[in-house]
Parts: sequence; C-alpha cells; structure tokens
Amino acid sequence: MKSALPAGFEPRSLAESIAEAIINNEFFLLVEGVDDIPIYEKLLCEIVNDYNVQCFSNLSDYGVGCDALISTVENLTKTEPSIAVKKIWGAIIDLDSRFFRGTIPTHPQVTTLSRYSIENFFVNKESIVAILKTTTKCGDLAETAAEHIMSAVIPTLQNLSIATAEAILHGVYEEYCGFCSFSTSVDTIKNKPDIRNSLEEWSDFILEQSRDVGFHQTVEDVLKFTKGKWLLNYFLAESIKKIRELHADCKDGSVFRCKSCNAGKYDCCQYKMQIGIDTKIGRGIVTSNFNPRTLEEVMISLSRLTGVSIGDRCN
Ligand SMILES: [Zn+2]
Repeated sequence: MKSALPAGFEPRSLAESIAEAIINNEFFLLVEGVDDIPIYEKLLCEIVNDYNVQCFSNLSDYGVGCDALISTVENLTKTEPSIAVKKIWGAIIDLDSRFFRGTIPTHPQVTTLSRYSIENFFVNKESIVAILKTTTKCGDLAETAAEHIMSAVIPTLQNLSIATAEAILHGVYEEYCGFCSFSTSVDTIKNKPDIRNSLEEWSDFILEQSRDVGFHQTVEDVLKFTKGKWLLNYFLAESIKKIRELHADCKDGSVFRCKSCNAGKYDCCQYKMQIGIDTKIGRGIVTSNFNPRTLEEVMISLSRLTGVSIGDRCN
C-alpha cells in the first residue's frame, strides 16, 4: 500500500539514494540499524567532508536482516551496474555468524565488520576512561584506573564463551536444538537458571562442537564473535561494578591514590561514582564520547569504501 506521508517524506530506494548522493556529491553509507547512524557519522566525518548515513530499514526496498540488504545490492548490480561499484556509496554489515556459515559477501561496496557488530569495538580502555571522566572526579587518574579495571574485567568476558558457542551452533546448523541463540537477551541467559544449568551441563559437548566450526574458548574469540549487545552489556556491567569499588581500592592503596584519600579525606574520594549509573547510561557515554581513532579497524574499512585514505580529507 502506498504510504500516506507527504511528498518528500517517502522512503527512497537504494538506487534513488545513490543517485541523490551523486547529485549532492556526498558519500552515501548504508548501515544495519538506527543505533549505528550517529556512530558511523562520527567515523565518516574523519574521512570525507560530505556524507549521508542511512539505515537499511529506512529504504523503500528493504527486507528483514542483512541477507535482504545483500539481495537489494545484488538487484542494484543487475539494474544499475555502473553505479553499483561506484565509490560514492557503500554498505557496512555486521559479521554476526557469517564467518562460521561461510556467507561473507564479496561485493566491492559491501564491507563486513571483522567483529560481530560495531558494539564489540567499544570494549576497550578508552570506554572505561570515558565513563570514569563522566561519572567520577578522578580526572587525570582515569588512565591508570582504567588499566586497573581492564585487567580485572577482560578475563571475565570468557564467562560468555559457552552461551556464545551455543548461539553460534544454533546459527550454523538449522536443525540444531540449542538452549539459547543470539536472539536471546543476555539478561535472560543470566537470570534463567534452567538455561544457565543446561549450558553448564552440556558445556563439554557445546565447546567441542563449536571448536569444529572454528570458535575457541578464548577471550579473543569472545571479543570477536559474541553478539555485540551481549558483550558490551556484560563489559559495562562488570566495569561499572569495579568502578564502584575504586574508592575502597583507593583507600587501601591498590590503585594510584587520589588527592582526597592522600589527605585522609576518604569521604571525598575522587573515584566515587555518581549514583544511578547503569549499563544503559554507560552505553550512551561510550558510544557518543569516543575517539574515532580507537575504532581504527572500522575506519580502515570506511576508507576502502570511500576510496579516501584516513587523514587525506580535504578541508
Ligand atoms: Zn580516593
């Protein structure tokens, strides 16, 4: 049915969006979700002067999921072969379980992230520095405190490996009857004892099967292949928990002591976190206050799509 929206508000097709980009001399980037738009705008702004980031669901020729995005791109290649490969546009898609299913697209203007999704790239020290600087008074102490938090939190990410392995198997084998998939929320996995117990009970089997498809129970593989929303949520929850303990660590001297504690004024510890900070707020802080250079791998992918080297942007 034709939309009742006024003229100018109707969704454009991929071909129309690219035609518009050519007229406006701007780079058109297609991303998977609306949450991704401001993140990619911030990254693209470092590479090109004019750009338009759009999410797939806002196009008129969109289907569900990134397989539909790929078929839209394939249609474009058939109908408009000359613009399909033009470096005026590009699409960036999540890795999700494509690596294990062997379904990474090869179209020159479609790039697949090297990790599950963009959220995976925010698991880094700079994210903790941003949270510390926004929610405590630690100022210049944030760098060393963030190292202290990272060394405590990163090994705990391995706790996600069995659920990740199970979800990967679910994504690879259609007939696989698993206890969870990447559509299950991390809170459901954490809070439902039957899922947790079943994963625990079957852990040897799950890990053996997942090793066969290429997933290993290492922190590196968790960082790469765990669903971004699970990973970032878990990382933020653990980091916030550790930040709350910093003033006790400061008092006993296990982190670089702050000026207040040095003066014996423990109640005014600079590491004390504001009240009410949760993972949702943490996510907002890390995805808006980041330095594009910390997402270097994604910047390199964008640079390939645009044909512009990082740092070559003409001002
Ligand atoms: Zn202190």
